Amino acid sequence: MEQIAPDVFRIPLLPRDGVNAYLVGDVLVDAGMKGSAKKILKALDAAGVTLSAHVITHAHGDHVGGTPTIVDATGVPVSVGAGDRAAAEAGEPVLSAKARRPGLHGILKFAGGFDGFSVDHSLTEGDDIGCGFTVLETPGHSPGHVSFWRESDGVLICGDVVTAMHLLTTKAGLHQPPALLTPDPERNRESERRLAGLEPQIVLAGHGPPVRDAAQAMRTFVAGL
Ligand SMILES: [Zn+2]
Repeated sequence: MEQIAPDVFRIPLLPRDGVNAYLVGDVLVDAGMKGSAKKILKALDAAGVTLSAHVITHAHGDHVGGTPTIVDATGVPVSVGAGDRAAAEAGEPVLSAKARRPGLHGILKFAGGFDGFSVDHSLTEGDDIGCGFTVLETPGHSPGHVSFWRESDGVLICGDVVTAMHLLTTKAGLHQPPALLTPDPERNRESERRLAGLEPQIVLAGHGPPVRDAAQAMRTFVAGL
């Protein structure tokens, strides 16, 4: 577990920053893939953290795969964006029309279906998740995608609205999420412009290393959309 800012920690779940979960105080943000739960529980244990809640940026298999096991082990309540609640409970993410064509299995195995789980709360704009973070509705990559924003020091946890690495080469840098997994790319670009407009200091994405001095990088990124 790596401390990024006061009360904010990153839990890397794959080599080369491939998949991240985060800890905000005693709240777990995302839970990686099915096989990530063990790693997360071990990291929490080693840090002496007792979780109070689990919040989710969006209901894709590489962000909620570990959720059922985490909930079984800790009993904490789970919150997800209102627009992703049905997908989370069914274990069926909303993907692009193209992704529903047969034969496209690689990336979908990674980020697609997962074991559904019951959701305790739906997150909506302005909700407080603790440690100064509030919920921003940032749809596009999924209908109910949310980000977590702390205005006081400009820390943004943005799920997959942007990725902080190229997903194939793993080279660091800001990118749009894969089109196959993004049902509404134009709406996602609106979310990207909104997040850039906040001028975040640190951007923490689901994929890729932390982006520091992020305001300029985000400005340049959205100018190129
Ligand atoms: Zn993802």
